[in-house]
Amino acid sequence: MEKLQAFKVYLNQPRKAVIVTHFKPDADALGSSLGLAGFLKKKGHKVQVVTPSDFPHFLAWMPGSQDVIALSKESPEPEKKALDAIAKADVIFCLDFSSLNRINDLGEVVKKSKAKKVMIDHHLEPENFADFVQWDSKAASTAGLVFELIKELDEESHMDEAIANCLYAGLMTDTGGFRHSNTTQKEFLIASELVGFGADPSNVSKQIYDNNSVERLRLVGFVLNEKLKTLPEYNTAYITLSQDELKKYGSQTGDTEGLVNYGLSVKGMKLAVILYDRKEEIKLSFRSVGDFNVNDFARKHFEGGGHKNASGGSSKLTLEETLKKFLEVLPLYKDQLN
Ligand code: 5GP
Ligand code: MN
Repeated sequence: MEKLQAFKVYLNQPRKAVIVTHFKPDADALGSSLGLAGFLKKKGHKVQVVTPSDFPHFLAWMPGSQDVIALSKESPEPEKKALDAIAKADVIFCLDFSSLNRINDLGEVVKKSKAKKVMIDHHLEPENFADFVQWDSKAASTAGLVFELIKELDEESHMDEAIANCLYAGLMTDTGGFRHSNTTQKEFLIASELVGFGADPSNVSKQIYDNNSVERLRLVGFVLNEKLKTLPEYNTAYITLSQDELKKYGSQTGDTEGLVNYGLSVKGMKLAVILYDRKEEIKLSFRSVGDFNVNDFARKHFEGGGHKNASGGSSKLTLEETLKKFLEVLPLYKDQLN
């Protein structure tokens, strides 16, 4: 971190901290937030984690998750609690995102707040809104960046099993179980140290990957059987899921996570996308292998972003229109996809 010394001095007094992470948090978003929360609490700070939406049930095992204020459109009460916490905060930590639109309406609230802002993130093309920044687009996970920050602060003595498990979860999932191209020696070194502090790889993996409802597995079956389409001339696979289809399989938050990877697992595919209807918008998730840059693609066409090989975006069109738009822009990339 730049200005590390100033940050260290800042944290030497007890502060009221709020940690915010992105809409529909994944394991890296929530794990890095709860890992950091655990650490800051041990340092004597008052900490409140706020998420702009609910989070998947398979993350509920994370220590501290029961204290998260999760915003939901249905109940106005948590909203007020979250706004109160932000209004009182001395410092707001923004984790696993660096575009304020990723926290929806909270983006304006955070921007206007007089609190000090800390951004810890690994997404490409960050916005410049923070006083202290721990950013590295080469880092596979935000959780790893949190761990590195704790080390830079010389505060490893505050590490414990709960913090280590939360951070390990983020590292494990953002590397796709240490399989994606972002997995370098550093990721294994961080993993090794986290295990040293008590992280349990087998248990974390079981909690996250082997926690399916039967309905979710039926959804996977349906997707593989009927919804996965390939476009061999573009080495591209795509999946669409409508509201009705998601409803039919009792889809819960997190149930669509990972589905896009099946597209990329088809031999020869360079680009995979899933488009699904989230009611308020169509959500798109992109994955690629090699040089095809889905951060650029999502930014240019679907108001999104992310990483070179994993990104997301959204669209206000209907599902059919969004697919049509995707299929229309694809020919522009024919050369890059071959
Ligand atoms: P996922 O497809 O798993 O939701 O997201 C893949 C990556 O892209 C993640 O790093 C995620 O944070 C990022 N991402 C997903 N959706 C969006 C979006 O709408 N905007 C931006 N800027 N990034 C996104
Ligand atoms: Mn992440």
